[in-house]
Amino acid sequence: MSKTKDRIRESNLRYKQSLGQNFLYDENLLAELTAEAGVTKDEDVLEIGPGCGSLTRHLCDAANRVLAVELDERLIPLLQAFLDEKKNLTVVQGDVMALNLGEVTKDLKKPFAVVANIPYYITTPLIKLLLTGGLPVSRLALMVQQEVADKILASPGEEGWGPLSILCQVLCEPRLAVRVPAEMFTPPPKVDSAFVVLPLRETPAVEVRNREMFFRVANAAFAMRRKTMLNNLCATFRTERARAAGWMEAAGLDEKVRGERLTLEELARLADVVTEGVTE
Ligand code: SAM
Repeated sequence: MSKTKDRIRESNLRYKQSLGQNFLYDENLLAELTAEAGVTKDEDVLEIGPGCGSLTRHLCDAANRVLAVELDERLIPLLQAFLDEKKNLTVVQGDVMALNLGEVTKDLKKPFAVVANIPYYITTPLIKLLLTGGLPVSRLALMVQQEVADKILASPGEEGWGPLSILCQVLCEPRLAVRVPAEMFTPPPKVDSAFVVLPLRETPAVEVRNREMFFRVANAAFAMRRKTMLNNLCATFRTERARAAGWMEAAGLDEKVRGERLTLEELARLADVVTEGVTE
């Protein structure tokens, strides 16, 4: 058993399911995740949910500095005691979704990497926040549920293809790094997990006139599954059929196509037409 696990046991800490506390103690796996995350001594790292610090310890050895944000107050003294030899670590207690992350990370070298075995109950809002919140991030290296990894990596028309795939693939070049079976965690979650690495692109995968409109149109594509893009445009933009049909035609798209079949390029063309139509 790892030393960290021993210490958790000694402290009589009960894992809080409500906080997504599924900890990793396998040193080989933790080393593999750190290597896959590509952390180097030139770079600072933001870790979300350090727990009792088992991944944090590896990150501190690999990175220049590590800033770890942990919500559970009970873990802060444990973390500090476990990691007091790590001089390049700063621990902040708080909810990552509520903190002013720009302020919290202001002393980190930019851009910084985000590496974490995240609490699964905030997966999608957290990824959105990290990718669209204006933070200077070089890449995300995150443990997520296998189903979420499938969505992040899906291609148009595939089962998981949806708003999360589009967000991640427009702004990043995601790859599956490690599949992690549920039994590697303590306590094991109900489903298997995957560690995914999402380096941010220098420029988005598709150029659009208005990025906010692109994401509105992309979300519209999935507003009502199995409906046509035309119907979804009418509903999302509260516009009449003839106008939305004009947008589809101007974008070179078949009126009958379903939203979930559209590629990034097709969505970008459509978003540009809608941007023009809405602002004219
Ligand atoms: N990094 C540790 C590991 O790999 O063993 C723990 C990972 S555990 C999946 C998720 C951690 O995130 C827990 O320590 C939990 O307390 C913390 N957490 C949960 N919600 C959080 C939030 N909103 N902000 C910051 N940390 C949170």
